[in-house]
Amino acid sequence: MPNPQRGTHNGSCIMQFTSTRDESHQAPLAAALADGLAPDGGLYVPTAFPDLGPEAFDGLERIEAIAERLLRPFFAGDRLEDALPAICAETFSFPVPLRDLKDDTAVLELFHGPTAAFKDVGARFLASGLSRLNAGAAEPVTILVATSGDTGAAVAAAFHQKPNVEVIVLYPKGRVSDRQEKQLTGWGGNVLTVAVQGVFDDCQQLVKAAFRDDWWQTHRRLSSANSINLGRLLPQMTYYAAASLWYQRRHGARPGFIVPSGNLGNALAALYARACGLPIGDVVMATNANRPVTHFLETGDWQPFDTEETLATAMDVGDPSNMERVRYHWSDVEALRHAVRAERITDDAIRRQIRRGPAVWGEVWDPHTATAVEVREQTSTPHWILVATAHPAKFEQIVEPLIGDTVPVPEALAAVMDRAAPAPEIAPSLDALRDVVVAREEQQRAAARE
Ligand SMILES: *Cc1c(COP(=O)(O)O)cnc(C)c1O
Repeated sequence: MPNPQRGTHNGSCIMQFTSTRDESHQAPLAAALADGLAPDGGLYVPTAFPDLGPEAFDGLERIEAIAERLLRPFFAGDRLEDALPAICAETFSFPVPLRDLKDDTAVLELFHGPTAAFKDVGARFLASGLSRLNAGAAEPVTILVATSGDTGAAVAAAFHQKPNVEVIVLYPKGRVSDRQEKQLTGWGGNVLTVAVQGVFDDCQQLVKAAFRDDWWQTHRRLSSANSINLGRLLPQMTYYAAASLWYQRRHGARPGFIVPSGNLGNALAALYARACGLPIGDVVMATNANRPVTHFLETGDWQPFDTEETLATAMDVGDPSNMERVRYHWSDVEALRHAVRAERITDDAIRRQIRRGPAVWGEVWDPHTATAVEVREQTSTPHWILVATAHPAKFEQIVEPLIGDTVPVPEALAAVMDRAAPAPEIAPSLDALRDVVVAREEQQRAAARE
């Protein structure tokens, strides 16, 4: 497969998605969303990208309208096509401001949703799409999701009380912030949260193993909501589209994006948006001290690493799941080097950027966004958009001592944290996970009998 190519989709036929492992396997959008993973264990990718220059968005200003225009070709001929406007409207129930800072730099604030991180966008879009697809199904679909903190909270919030969908969230015990833990737990109803004694990669391995496991295959209709699901990736393209158009209209220049990166879904969405013809310049992945991405770009040699714990916990990933998509699209590392840059940012630099944020930028950065700020300061060219992936109030234990001030909690986030309750804790094994799920089913059956 070539690099994501511009203008290869004519918009009138049904858009197909293919597996990274077997191009002969193709599926329409609805199937790709519902299944999460392709049957061969690969990840779904678009077979083509529409050709949409800035002129295709003339007269469109609001992000919902831009999203609808951008995604229409991806929904062409699909069961969900008619629902696209409603899905976009439901997704963006909160603002996504692009604010100009100094030095030809702007910040795209993706943290105004219910769980105060960018993952609300993808999770709400997926929840909206999947609940529509399942509206008439006999059996609920189970969304199994591994989280390094933010995904699980966003998915739980987005799917909570959606009919015909159950959610199981796995998070690494002791490796998320107190406030993240509060957002992950206490949902109840159709959401089960489980604390895994391990790191994020253990959680991710459990999800992958469940998809291959007989018990899970026969007892549950499984789907995923990790950034491996296309239903997360596609909507993430929309804020790159909107921000690049807004920036170009304001400043007459095409901006680059600096994206705090872990599993690489967010940065890949920027590359996809650029492939659709949006006015996007360079894309830089800002990683924390974890080295799989920078090591690969430097050496051309792909290998996962053990996860290293850093201050930017949501990016503590040693084996990024979207690397499979990246390597599928850019099978030649030299081509990939032309498409994207990556910079590894230490915890010391993260701390320094948070500390000086108020004085230098007039901003309080969260530890993830701080990696992008560090990259910006290392870069002398103009016209960059910093992608702010989380609100600093989510990581107050790191941020507040560094700035010597408190960070007010956004109202939406406070409401979510009020629900908190302890989650069952398990060893990182499929057996232990099954036991918790079975126990929960029995509890629910007993409750239903009463
Ligand atoms: C998930 C997350 C990231 C990393 O995004 P990827 O798409 O996994 O690369 C960065 N910052 C925050 C706050 C996150 O929650």
